[in-house]
Amino acid sequence: MAYELPPLPYAYDALEPVIDKQTMTLHHDMHHGAYVKNLNAAIEKHPELGKRAPEDLLRDLNSIPEDIRTTVRNNGGGHVNHTMFWKIMKPKGGGDPSGPIADTIKKSFGNFKDFQTKFNDAGVKQFGSGWVWLAGKPGGEVQIITTPNQDSPISQGLYPIFGNDVWEHAYYLKYNNRRPEYLAAWWNVVNWDEINKRFEAFKSAKSADREPAFASR
Ligand code: MN
Repeated sequence: MAYELPPLPYAYDALEPVIDKQTMTLHHDMHHGAYVKNLNAAIEKHPELGKRAPEDLLRDLNSIPEDIRTTVRNNGGGHVNHTMFWKIMKPKGGGDPSGPIADTIKKSFGNFKDFQTKFNDAGVKQFGSGWVWLAGKPGGEVQIITTPNQDSPISQGLYPIFGNDVWEHAYYLKYNNRRPEYLAAWWNVVNWDEINKRFEAFKSAKSADREPAFASR
């Protein structure tokens, strides 16, 4: 298999009570697992694609053969997005950001609370399934964006510094329809060390189309 489901970097119940064990189990094993399985199935007809990092597939979707382009967009996106997602969370995470990402948040949004409010609002307003992101622009600035479905910022020439999954599968068992409650609680499991690593990779890449630090295969 060209692409593999990475193991969860902590136990399924490690993010309790913010994210419950059943949600984590289904989300990682079934949802992320299916994206990887579907991506591998799609590239069986085009095995040369399997030699590329999954981020690379998303960077120029027009270069993907038309018969599998939508499948790669959805499932390659699902694979890359979730590989990021597990890593940027951790048990006993959260708190105020530190390091370079804290400086950038302060510079770009005034303070952390205002940034959180804007990020959460964007996540609440994303209609249907999708993601809310802090994305890096080619010039080095950062901005909050949302993407529908499993679309990656990479396909827009932006760098996914970190994002939160606002698909119902990410929160519905515990929070039901209360997406704002999930978005607010989620900050308690955020892994700022990992986000700083991704932010440093973005800064050192100097261009949104290079992502040496987190090729996920
Ligand atoms: Mn998800």
